[in-house]
Amino acid sequence: MTGVVDSFGRSIGYLRISVTDRCNLRCLYCMPPEGVPKIAQSEILSYEEICAVARAGAELGIRKVRLTGGEPLVRAGLPGLVRMLSQIDGIQELSLTTNGTLLKQYAPALKEAGLSRVNVSLDTLKADRFRCITCAGELSDVLEGIEATRNTGLHPVKINVVVIRGTNDDEILDFAEMTRKAEWHVRFIELMPFKGTAEFVPSIELRHQISSMGKLEPCHDSAGPAGNGPAAYYRLTGAKGTIGFISPLSEPSFCSRCNRMRLTPDGKLRPCLLREDEIDLRTPLRNNASSEALKRLIQKAVASKPERHHLEAGSNPCPKAATSRGVMNRRMSQIGG
Ligand code: SAM
Ligand code: SF4
Repeated sequence: MTGVVDSFGRSIGYLRISVTDRCNLRCLYCMPPEGVPKIAQSEILSYEEICAVARAGAELGIRKVRLTGGEPLVRAGLPGLVRMLSQIDGIQELSLTTNGTLLKQYAPALKEAGLSRVNVSLDTLKADRFRCITCAGELSDVLEGIEATRNTGLHPVKINVVVIRGTNDDEILDFAEMTRKAEWHVRFIELMPFKGTAEFVPSIELRHQISSMGKLEPCHDSAGPAGNGPAAYYRLTGAKGTIGFISPLSEPSFCSRCNRMRLTPDGKLRPCLLREDEIDLRTPLRNNASSEALKRLIQKAVASKPERHHLEAGSNPCPKAATSRGVMNRRMSQIGG
C-alpha cells in the first residue's frame, strides 16, 4: 500500500499533473473550435513549483506521476520537467498522456530524460474522421508518433479511445483488430459529461460487440498494461495486445478504486476529477511555503476526497442533467484528463 489513505480507506499514491491548458487540437468533446479563454501565463505553475508539489507528494507516498494537459508537449521544455521529476526520491513511475501529434519529435528526449511510459489518445483510425474529431490534426502524425515511441523502448504504449455514440462507435472492431495485428494496448473510455459533450456508450455494449470476434479473456498481468489503474483488461485469444475498458459512468464500483489526485496548471489540487472542490497550492508556493506546509495541504485534499462522483449513468449527459451540482467549472483540458 502506498500514499496517504483517504477517509474511505483508499490509498492515494498517484498524482496527475496538468502542465498546460493549451492544446494544438480541438477534440469535439473537450474544446470548442475557437478554443477556451486561456489561463494567464503568470498563473501557470513553473516547473520548479510543480516539482515542489511533487516532492512534497513523494514524501507522503506518491509513487506515480503522470503529466497531462491540455497537450503537455506544447509546453516548452517538457523533457526538462521530466528530468527534474525523475530525480525526486520516491517517484517510481513517470508517465505522459498526449494526443501524440508531437511524439515523433519528442519521444527520444522524453525517454532519455527518464519518462517510463506514454498513453496516446486516438479516437479514430480514419484520416478524414480524425480531422473532424480534432478540428485540426493529421492521423499520420499520431501513428508515426506511436511508432517512434515504441522504437525508443517506451513500453507499453497505451491507446486511449473515447467512444462517442454516432461518431466513432462503428470503429470498435477495427481498434480490437489492431490488438491482434500488433502489440497495441487499446483502452475504451466512456465519454464523461464535461461542457458540450455528446452521448457515451456503456462499456458492456462494447464488450458484447467485441465478443463477436472471439473469446475475450481477462488479463491480470500487473507488470503489463493491466497495472493497477482503473481499466479492466482483456485479450482476444492469441492477440498480441490487450483491450481495456474504463467505465466511470456505468461501473458502480469505479470510484472505490480511485488512487489519484490532480494538480491543475494554475496550481489547484483537485481531489476528484468530477467534483469542483480544489485546494489552492499556488498562493502558498509563491509565499515560500515550506515542504511541511505543502504536505499538510496535500493531506487536507486527500481527506476531502469524496467517496464517489454523482454522475448518473444513463442520464442525458449534458452538464446540468449529469451533475447534481450544475455545470462543471472547468473543462477536461483545464484540469488534466
Ligand atoms: N491532450 C492530451 C490527450 O489528448 O491525451 C492530454 C489531455 S486530455 C484532456 C486527456 C484525456 O482525456 C484524453 O485521453 C482525452 O481523450 C480524455 N478526455 C477529454 N475529454 C473527455 C471526456 N469528456 N470524457 C472522457 N475522456 C475525455
Ligand atoms: Fe487537446 Fe487532449 Fe482535449 Fe483533444 S483531448 S482537445 S488533444 S487536451
